[in-house]
Amino acid sequence: MRCKLCAWRCLIADGKLGHCAVRKNIGGVLYSLNYYKVCSANVDPIEKKPLFHFQPGSKSFSISTPGCNFQCEFCQNWHISQQAMEKGTLEGEAVAPNQIVESAVRTGCKSISYTYTEPTIFMELCADCAAPAKERGLSNVFVSNGYQTREAIDFAKDWLDAINVDLKAFNEDYYRRLCKARLQPVLDTISYIAKETNIWQEITTLLVPGENDSEDELKRLAEWLVANAGADVPWHISRFYPQYKYLDSEPTPVESLERAYNIGKAAGLRYVYVGNMPGSRLENTFCYKCGKMLIERVGYKINANRIKDSSCPDCGTKIAGKW
Ligand code: SF4
Repeated sequence: MRCKLCAWRCLIADGKLGHCAVRKNIGGVLYSLNYYKVCSANVDPIEKKPLFHFQPGSKSFSISTPGCNFQCEFCQNWHISQQAMEKGTLEGEAVAPNQIVESAVRTGCKSISYTYTEPTIFMELCADCAAPAKERGLSNVFVSNGYQTREAIDFAKDWLDAINVDLKAFNEDYYRRLCKARLQPVLDTISYIAKETNIWQEITTLLVPGENDSEDELKRLAEWLVANAGADVPWHISRFYPQYKYLDSEPTPVESLERAYNIGKAAGLRYVYVGNMPGSRLENTFCYKCGKMLIERVGYKINANRIKDSSCPDCGTKIAGKW
């Protein structure tokens, strides 16, 4: 069996698992072993995904199942993402899609986020939640490493409303060494979503000191984003804290984050944000034309939102997003 969900495109013999260790060929049928294994369910602010230009100030019912198709050395959710690959176990509860949707409605959420681990590899559960979620007026959100195939994006694009894609670095060596994956499929995903779908997209880059934070690399990354995803795509530059196997590093210095912010703006990105640094003024949304503050944030909390009719109330400039 050939699995077409992600860029690994695993060829899986009868009785064997794919690279993610959660999909198995049993007698010529490809099974999703994590379908009835929901391992996290939380009510999160949508800002935590992070999505800053999509239903700001709303709550998102956030779920995951174990497994991932990456093996990032600094994964903050490694105990659930790496469980299948490292231990061969899949711990979780059998929760039916309708129950997930009901919980989202009951808790006052406006969306369901498929997050914490890689949603592409629990795509069947996402799809089965998405249809009843739409019927109840909820949006569907992916927080993803962007390793989907085009077939997978095409499968999801009619029910997927927003996605945050991790663009972890702009060099292949980083992806190979620290994530056991490749950069090019992620670039293909970002470009395809921007050009061929109506899915609202934001990008996150975790800045790891000495690994992906050189001026040259960040400049090339930001310029690539402008050329391939457009100047309106929000870029979140996130502060790194030592995690999992990657412990011999300091948290990202504040000056590096501010330097990356300036590089993004100089490249022409209209909305650049610094994350994991609550209280920084670089968490706020500014009008790219007149420079006035439009959304004031502290961490995941919104103090003020002045956007009116999707526009800046001072100069009338349209602000991209799904407000
Ligand atoms: S989801 Fe990706 S890693 Fe998992 S079996 Fe399919 S192609 Fe392989």
